[in-house]
Amino acid sequence: MDLAELLEEIAREVRPYFGKGRVASYIPALRRVPATKFGMAVSMVDGREFTVGDVDEKFSIQSISKLLTLMLAMSIRGDEVWRRVGKEPSGTPFNSLVQLEYEKGVPRNPFINAGALVVLDCVMARTGKETTQVILDYARVLSRDFSVDYNAKVAASELRAAHRNAAIANLLRCHKTIRHDPGDLLSAYCHQCSLEMSCSDLARTFLPLANAGVSPILEEAVLTDRQARRINALMMTCGMYDSVGSFAFRVGLPAKSGVGGGIVAVVPRQCCIAVWSPELDRSGNSLVGTAALELFVRMTKMSIL
Ligand code: GLU
Repeated sequence: MDLAELLEEIAREVRPYFGKGRVASYIPALRRVPATKFGMAVSMVDGREFTVGDVDEKFSIQSISKLLTLMLAMSIRGDEVWRRVGKEPSGTPFNSLVQLEYEKGVPRNPFINAGALVVLDCVMARTGKETTQVILDYARVLSRDFSVDYNAKVAASELRAAHRNAAIANLLRCHKTIRHDPGDLLSAYCHQCSLEMSCSDLARTFLPLANAGVSPILEEAVLTDRQARRINALMMTCGMYDSVGSFAFRVGLPAKSGVGGGIVAVVPRQCCIAVWSPELDRSGNSLVGTAALELFVRMTKMSIL
């Protein structure tokens, strides 16, 4: 099978889906992204890379950053993370306050906002350098792209619009689930959401999840085999907002999405796929991106199910 040709075919086949979703509009910078952008990159564990479309264009990775900080927290804090955050799907919106209060400040999983704030608190606890710099360095090293950066404008508008996330951070502090100042944490969180990376960057960055924790690019383990499997399990059960079940039904791969229209999916022992198309479905996942992944799995049979 020629993967390069297959990606071209997918790019053709998803065209009818454009115009059926809606670009995120809660901050101006996201609203302005052209809706018809599309890119798909596949990084194989043997080092080959296949791409189609706008794969080198950087976009706002938003909640995909939760995957990055989770890897970082697990690599520096180990199992301590699991004493502070759960491993169950939430069944409630990703920024829900009700469940957090009800469950005494312990977030259901690392991919809802409350969980991501606790994960970030774990990262903050061990690092002397500015947390935002540590996260940026990690993204640059894993992607092998030293031009990866935050978008300061996006970070600032995230922060201006972060009333609900501020409430979550404060509630976490009340319950002593986080140790740092909620304001500092919120600012670092808004920065991590504003990270801009391309599909090629993302497929390389998360390739260790497909390769037992080892980055074939760096030729070193960034996670243990067990940690990589655990992260994949969490992506499978909690990575796609409230449509994680229907995503598993359609695609059948561990994946994490963001409202910038990116999705990262992992095929254990084979490859990491990153797809980007800004229009979202009603659950907040890239509509065209999901269709592209569904086609990829159907054509390659690379599914874990
Ligand atoms: N910046 C967003 C928030 O925390 C993240 C959106 C997303 O889920 O991608 O509200």
